[in-house]
Amino acid sequence: MSETIFSKIIAKQIPAKIAYEDERYIVIHDVNPQAPVHVLVIPKRAIATLNDLQQGDAELVGGMFLVAAKIMKDLGYSDYRTVFNCGAGAQQSVFHIHLHVLAGRPFTWPPG
Ligand code: AMP
Repeated sequence: MSETIFSKIIAKQIPAKIAYEDERYIVIHDVNPQAPVHVLVIPKRAIATLNDLQQGDAELVGGMFLVAAKIMKDLGYSDYRTVFNCGAGAQQSVFHIHLHVLAGRPFTWPPG
């Protein structure tokens, strides 16, 4: 698949504020935060959208939520919003799946 800004961040070709990293994931602070805390959980293996997931990706995607929960616990938040945007019509702009994790303000429902 084509290179994205996230693959360049994973390769350390461009800088980012890294909140967490292990062999499978990198978590960065969003450059355009929509809440006092807004991080992106990004698997290092590039998958363009949720529509491209295969059965064998279930554990990788589930692990994204475990990473999100760990980061929020470490930062002291028990209430937070998680979002996957899938496709341009849902405001996906970087075609390498990522989980938005937002905290530090009240959230409304439904989201905009
Ligand atoms: P989405 O629109 O769901 O694809 O989310 C992509 C997110 O990546 C947006 O919230 C952007 O603000 C964020 N973003 C884009 N470039 C960078 C970057 N270089 N570092 C951190 N976050 C970024």
